[in-house]
Amino acid sequence: MAIIGIDLGTTNSLATLFNEVGVKIVRNALGNALTPSVVGLDDDGNVIVGEIAKERLITHPDMTVAEFKRTMGTDRKYKLGKDTYSSQQLSSILLKKIVADAKDYLGEEIDEAVISVPAYFDDKMRIATKQAAELAGIKCERLINEPSAAALAYLSRNHWKDGTYMVVDFGGGTLDVSIIDSFDSVMEIIAVAGNNQLGGKDFNEAIYRYFLLSNNLLEDSLTAEERAIIYRMSETTKIALSTNPIAVMTVVIRDQEYSLTLDNNKLIEIAHEVFEKIFTPIKKVLKDSRLRPEDLESIVLVGGSSKMPTVAVYIEKVTGVKPCTDIDPDTAIGIGAGIYSGIKMKNQQLKDIVMTDICPFSLGVDTHDYNNDVIMSFIIERNSMLPCSNMRSYYAIHDNQTVVDFKVYQGESIIPENNIYLGTISIGCPPTNKGEFIATVRMTYDINGILLIDVTNVNNETVSKTLIDNNVRLSEKEMEAIKKKLDKLRFEKDTNDEVKLLISRAERIIEESVSFERERLINALSAFKLTMAKGNSIEKRRTMEAFARFLDACDL
Ligand code: ADP
Ligand code: MG
Repeated sequence: MAIIGIDLGTTNSLATLFNEVGVKIVRNALGNALTPSVVGLDDDGNVIVGEIAKERLITHPDMTVAEFKRTMGTDRKYKLGKDTYSSQQLSSILLKKIVADAKDYLGEEIDEAVISVPAYFDDKMRIATKQAAELAGIKCERLINEPSAAALAYLSRNHWKDGTYMVVDFGGGTLDVSIIDSFDSVMEIIAVAGNNQLGGKDFNEAIYRYFLLSNNLLEDSLTAEERAIIYRMSETTKIALSTNPIAVMTVVIRDQEYSLTLDNNKLIEIAHEVFEKIFTPIKKVLKDSRLRPEDLESIVLVGGSSKMPTVAVYIEKVTGVKPCTDIDPDTAIGIGAGIYSGIKMKNQQLKDIVMTDICPFSLGVDTHDYNNDVIMSFIIERNSMLPCSNMRSYYAIHDNQTVVDFKVYQGESIIPENNIYLGTISIGCPPTNKGEFIATVRMTYDINGILLIDVTNVNNETVSKTLIDNNVRLSEKEMEAIKKKLDKLRFEKDTNDEVKLLISRAERIIEESVSFERERLINALSAFKLTMAKGNSIEKRRTMEAFARFLDACDL
């Protein structure tokens, strides 16, 4: 039985295992480290996850869902075929696939996972993530903040060198910035900030808009499929600019060719708002931790979007520090989650490492000030070290008060309404007059950043809630019902291994061949992969047989 680490990303996910030699990156059934966080149904109603589902985003938008992590812990439902699914349920399907692939790859049963979540995930999102794992049939006792995971990966490679670090994690849909102190193998996260609506996606959108503009194309005149093609090409162009000075984007729509030539300077210009937004959380963590950029040992860049050279240049411009990009931005967080699973298993190699995490936002309840205005009363301050617990007392606001309602909020604004409302907790009490003590509120944040609230009245009677919004934490009965629904889904498995084998075989023959023969094989392989991604079962079966015969003929 093993514990794996999982980076459950908005765009891509990755699993790792900690063993005697360190962290091992798990390869999925197609042999890749990253599994796109995309879930869909094929034409036969089987579940497909990862690369193949991603391929079908354009061709089968009604049967494929991506970026569902953005709505984790909310009521948002996604339509997939005849049914609808929450982000949690889709994450559970994705986790099931990741774990199944890891089991095949490692040849070992997996019963537990340490899952990374954005530092800015609130309580609901964290609970939803843990329950997604349970729905997928794996235990998840520990969540780790993604920047903490990145820092673990970086520090383990750099021999836990003492110092203060900034980790900038720039992914597909979120930006997380954190300050980490590492002294004598004790890692402490001292500040975090972020923007959970900023990522690589925003560059794709900027390029997409600019492409339409410079080609005089009106979005409304395009079909959903045409838009999706332009969007996908926008991302390809962005990625090309990470390694090339210039990229040409060409899209054919209704037999007419449209194109756009971009370089990084132009990209900075058209996406300047995206770049500017990167600075806000950087400024915030520095302010919160009372540090200047020159106090930092290093700025560590992780996440797919940090592969853009323009991002590193921008960060250097605003901080004066040249960021470090020498750990693989794609796998750093997964590796950190794996190291944390090693710490959790009390692995000998890691026995000296201690990691502490913080609560990324303030928590409190609404109260009345002297002017009778409703204001926030903060109970846990942002950046408090986890686990933490704090208590405040409250007084009656009118005579003969027999009940008190505390509205719980998360956020930094003094005006409760500007913060995120988490729910209300009420308690009855003996009649109390204005200004007299009425109740205490204790808030306890556990190691995973999950909140427990206790309200105690004058008579020492207590009302406790793990989560104020009962819709979020599913009851056992609800869990069973959802599990049943998910268990009914058939995972497309039967042909996968065979396909995998054909692909690896083709790749090998390609390696062995040259020039014209090689081109012919490359084209045949692309066509084969396309049918495997998009065809129906009959087409797939036929193509597999034909491709096997073709390979037999080439493989002399
Ligand atoms: P997440 O943490 O959201 O799952 P990742 O860290 O995997 O995401 O980052 C995904 C984002 O990184 C996508 O927007 C993708 O376009 C972008 N990306 C991946 N590789 C590159 C590259 N070489 N250059 C620029 N952007 C890239
Ligand atoms: Mg990520």
